[in-house]
Amino acid sequence: MILINENYLALKGSYLFSEMAKRINAHGGDIIKLGIGDVTRPLPPAVVDAMKEAVDDMATAQGFHGYGPEQGYAWLREAIAANDYAGLGIEADEIFVSDGAKCDTGNIQELFSPMCDVAVLDPVYPVYVDTNVMAGRAGDYDESKNAYSNITYLPCSADNGFKPAVPQKNVDIIYLCYPNNPTGTVLTKEELTEWVNYAKKSGALILFDAAYEAFIREDNVPHSIYEIEGAKEVAIEFRSFSKTAGFTGTRCAFTVVPKALMGADSDGELHSLNAMWNRRHSTKFNGVPYITQKGALACYSDEGKAQIKETIGFYLDNAKIIREGLKSIGIDCWGGVNSPYVWLKTPGGMPSWDFFDKLLDAGVAGTPGAGFGSAGEGYFRLTAFNTKENTLKAMEKVSSLKL
Ligand code: PLP
Repeated sequence: MILINENYLALKGSYLFSEMAKRINAHGGDIIKLGIGDVTRPLPPAVVDAMKEAVDDMATAQGFHGYGPEQGYAWLREAIAANDYAGLGIEADEIFVSDGAKCDTGNIQELFSPMCDVAVLDPVYPVYVDTNVMAGRAGDYDESKNAYSNITYLPCSADNGFKPAVPQKNVDIIYLCYPNNPTGTVLTKEELTEWVNYAKKSGALILFDAAYEAFIREDNVPHSIYEIEGAKEVAIEFRSFSKTAGFTGTRCAFTVVPKALMGADSDGELHSLNAMWNRRHSTKFNGVPYITQKGALACYSDEGKAQIKETIGFYLDNAKIIREGLKSIGIDCWGGVNSPYVWLKTPGGMPSWDFFDKLLDAGVAGTPGAGFGSAGEGYFRLTAFNTKENTLKAMEKVSSLKL
């Protein structure tokens, strides 16, 4: 009999979205869904046109594209460098195009020793923890704490403004996600500088997930960690076209691994993480389809940029409706300014699954904070990914709740 990777046995059940679906189905009726973080608006017309042209290319002998470069076509990597990293000194060969920030944030840990200590924010996007469990880095799961013994959790609550201090002890790998899923909060330049300085001092690596970068509207919020001096020596950044341009079903993202970034082997010899990720990417990944990359490229055209700005503005208007609706009935909330997510404190400290049921009775589905980690208990996430009409209707229903 084949022996299995027993690390998989340490994974706790992926309970959150299946339990939500179960309760929504059992409830029945007309429920407005402000729960799952998937976009609802169509692809920008500039992207659709570019993809149609690319399909036509593929129908001709001259325009046909077979296997492409695993790292992404140079024209897309150059457009990313010129637009997303203008003035930051990131070069095209430091950018790796992929089929998702989920895959990249999940796969990147393969480059590091099983002995590395990992720190995550709590509440957290579950992929960071689960992929380290699969790799055997997380230790044992303690049901009573909803935590793994070898993971350092950095609790985020209203008390610290959802911005935990840097760890007291040294850790090797720190996952930061800003704008944050699930709390919708951001770091200022000064706050992110503290993390970069910590990493420089302690030798840690920051894995910076900026999947929601396109939602940033406030001035002092960095769009990239490479805006911070010295970050190229201590950070990998993940971005995605998913939430930026409606690519959740189309699949295109990218990861930046600067050439200045080094890791040590057990003899203390230094190795380039860029070269290692390049090797990993070309061994295990065969590139994003030509048609999809042409669509992604169109995001950087004038038309594409304007259409994306309009769509993100639309979601942020919904987020404002949610924030103002909650505030009008005395519910404390955060996020929704530079993010599609609004994070709220459940009234009277109600457990977040009880609040889920209460909201469901009113005809609205959201996501219980406890599903993102133990520090999410007593909180709840609503998303701006719906129509304006449904968002307004949902907030009317929430307002009618007897809290
Ligand atoms: N990172 C965060 C924080 C997310 O919330 C998500 C999706 O919800 C992803 C990454 C996944 O992005 P992608 O669709 O590019 O895989």
